[in-house]
Amino acid sequence: MIWRNGQQSTAVEAGARGLATPVIALEHIHKVYATGSTPVHALRDVSLTVERGEFVAIMGASGSGKSTLMNILGCLDRPTRGRYLLDGIDASRLNRDERADIRNRKIGFVFQGFNLLPRTSALENVELPLLYTHLPARERELRSRRALALVGLAKRESSHPNQLSGGQQQRVAIARSLVNDPALLLADEPTGNLDTRTSIEIMSIFQSLNRERGITIVLVTHEADIANYAGRIIVVRDGRILRDYAVERRRDAAYELANLPPPDEEDAA
Ligand code: ADP
Ligand code: MG
Repeated sequence: MIWRNGQQSTAVEAGARGLATPVIALEHIHKVYATGSTPVHALRDVSLTVERGEFVAIMGASGSGKSTLMNILGCLDRPTRGRYLLDGIDASRLNRDERADIRNRKIGFVFQGFNLLPRTSALENVELPLLYTHLPARERELRSRRALALVGLAKRESSHPNQLSGGQQQRVAIARSLVNDPALLLADEPTGNLDTRTSIEIMSIFQSLNRERGITIVLVTHEADIANYAGRIIVVRDGRILRDYAVERRRDAAYELANLPPPDEEDAA
């Protein structure tokens, strides 16, 4: 595994210069889909850096290239041109197996549709990413329990997805994304299927993971309301970065929740 050495030497070099390795460094990324009769240039010369501990929202209209960008960031796909350093590792040169390996070790994914296994308990869903590791069963279970507790679901370990609300299912998915202790959490429209209150609850979990545990988050949304919980917003249009700016009046989900009227008894966790 060549990139292990690559990672170490990059970290050592960065340490010697007194710099932290960015979690994400995209350098002149292009993506061209050549599947149809005419090639689609989905990303055009995208360069950006995300430092450890940032919370970034990527915004843009449908077709602007958000998913293409997320697929590259998540090592699900490779850029046509340009370089992608993930936590100091050149992910743009890895083959399919190597990308699967780096995904398991470095990235947690949260999707709009939760993507939990049905007929499988919350705890087992959270444990899934650990099945690819060599951790002993007891350690896997311990870590999964901790991750579920972190999202406030310690008491729902044995519940199956169909016994949980949408918000609870998404919290299980967040716990699953954290269980490998990833360098980067990627969320694609994580509140797209949720009502307003539940969306704020999910954003409060992301904000506390980011603030209290220093987890780096990149979240895709087409809703400005949701993007304003992040510290930085990147707007894409036609495959290019149109704007990249710090959020001035950042929303605070925990504060907002404390000031909402109480939820109906039956909706409570
Ligand atoms: P968004 O997520 O912002 O809606 P996408 O990244 O999905 O945008 O798409 C960007 C452009 O690339 C669109 O024109 C889309 O039609 C095209 N595209 C996306 N995926 C593929 C693919 N697998 N093959 C061909 N074209 C694609
Ligand atoms: Mg998309």
